[in-house]
Amino acid sequence: SKTAKLAELDKKHFLHPASNPKAVVDNGPAVIFAEGKGVTVTSTDGIEYIDGMSMLWNVNLGHGNQELAEAGNQQLSTLACTSQFKAFSNEPAILLAEKLASLAPGDLNSVFYTSGGSESNDTAIKLARFYWELKGKPAKRKFIALNNAYHGVTVAAQTATGLSAYHHFSGSNIEGVVRATAYLLDSEKGDKNAPNYESSIRATIEREGADTIAGIIIEPVQGAGGVNIPPDGYLQAVRQLCDEFNILFLADEVICGFGRTGKMFGVNNWDVVPDMMSIAKGLTSGYGQLGGVMLNDEIKQTISSFDAVVPHGFTYSGHPTACAIALKNLEIIERDQIIGNVKSMELELKKGLKYLEEKHSIVTNCRAIGLLAAFELYEDPASGKLFDPTVFPANAVVDACFERQLILRALGAHNQIIAIAPPLIINKEEINKMIQIIDEAITAFKETLN
Ligand code: PLP
Repeated sequence: SKTAKLAELDKKHFLHPASNPKAVVDNGPAVIFAEGKGVTVTSTDGIEYIDGMSMLWNVNLGHGNQELAEAGNQQLSTLACTSQFKAFSNEPAILLAEKLASLAPGDLNSVFYTSGGSESNDTAIKLARFYWELKGKPAKRKFIALNNAYHGVTVAAQTATGLSAYHHFSGSNIEGVVRATAYLLDSEKGDKNAPNYESSIRATIEREGADTIAGIIIEPVQGAGGVNIPPDGYLQAVRQLCDEFNILFLADEVICGFGRTGKMFGVNNWDVVPDMMSIAKGLTSGYGQLGGVMLNDEIKQTISSFDAVVPHGFTYSGHPTACAIALKNLEIIERDQIIGNVKSMELELKKGLKYLEEKHSIVTNCRAIGLLAAFELYEDPASGKLFDPTVFPANAVVDACFERQLILRALGAHNQIIAIAPPLIINKEEINKMIQIIDEAITAFKETLN
């Protein structure tokens, strides 16, 4: 069959990202996708799956969107690619920059384009250091990053990532990243007697010295680290710390941005205005490979005072086709009130998660902000008893969902978390179908335990 032929070629020639290479060579790819429509994708074998993760939390307008395809087609056939170096520019990149400035909070009025989220975070870290050099404070070079953060896999982003598997891969880390514990709200507010104070951001700044710290990088809601929603007041407390110690607040909005959390940006949930913001993924709903770093006026103006070439930029920074797709994507998000749908589907999803928690004693810690959700599997939630590490409960349930044609993702240091992040266009019936499949998958998993 076609699928078998493709699988053989895949095994031979395709080294997959973030996958077990031996398993791929032994077993072939898990699925070969051929087409998609709305919240579903179909394999070369004709099996239709509900994409409960929007692929990698990015295909926010769903699959097969003809308007996005048309916007791409139009730009591809007019002028597919230009260089932006040496002050060359193009219309979609300019109009998108203006649009982003109008959507972003506060005075985040400028953008440096990249091709994705990792590049955005590396760019932000480099530009922050450059900013402090221009301000006459070259010693401000360190970045504080949180435990369980995921910021990508380019070298600076990998170093900022707080998941141990990524953290030391190939030993290629940058200097100057210091790690703090996430969500120590009382500590960040200044309570020195709060538990774990020593690993808080506040204590870290005091220990390292504010004059050595360029910035703090934080996902408004941690994604790959387990869909961790901060307590109310946390991001505001971090903003205050940044103001108090003259440190830049870099919000990694790569997952949260463009409606995922029920607001245009994750930080909008807490009315916080960062100094820099990394964007990617939902910017084009995955129809173009585009990211960016948004900068506030102070940083833009300071960098703009530098009268020589800044040696940083990518071939695809400001790629006209990707920018044209992003413009259409943002137009649709506003025109079709996609964020309104996210808010109402959040309620449906929460209802579904509550049902699962009530029905299955092993389900706990259900949470959702917009359409960014997760639940956890414990052998005994009441006593906090995890499953035996050899059980891999989240993998088992995710696999059981996949057999029932639903794609979800297993996360967590104990393989206990299951993430749900469907396309933002999902409807009530589709949410209920997802919950029904998860329900069946958990039941099947419980049967394997006996
Ligand atoms: N930042 C966050 C919060 C992410 O979730 C991701 C990807 O999942 C990245 C950065 C890296 O983005 P990319 O894979 O486009 O380089």
